[in-house]
Amino acid sequence: MTRAGPDPGTVAPRVHGRLVDAHTRCVHYDGPRDIVAIKFRCCGRYYACYSCHEELESHPAARWARGEFGERAVLCGACGAELTINAYLACGYRCPSCGAGFNPGCARHHPLYFET
Ligand SMILES: [Zn+2]
Ligand SMILES: [Zn+2]
Ligand SMILES: [Zn+2]
Repeated sequence: MTRAGPDPGTVAPRVHGRLVDAHTRCVHYDGPRDIVAIKFRCCGRYYACYSCHEELESHPAARWARGEFGERAVLCGACGAELTINAYLACGYRCPSCGAGFNPGCARHHPLYFET
């Protein structure tokens, strides 16, 4: 029996890091709107934040280049939707899928994840 892959409605990608809840909050960022996880270009793994990546991986983090912003590399911790980087940067800190608010303060950290 073959399957067409995980059902995006029910199966969210695994998120790594020092998580404190099921919505991708971690020991570093656990505010009410800190619900975004980022897939790192270097290892293809979702991490709650760059500090989690730094503490749990032994390689340096790689950033997404501008030409790769069509990749689904941002996970909404509220509904599990995977957003492209372009969609995340354009969403106005609100999940286009479920409407959950994202932390606008994350914009300060975008250069850690994305080529800006
Ligand atoms: Zn990595
Ligand atoms: Zn963290
Ligand atoms: Zn959502």
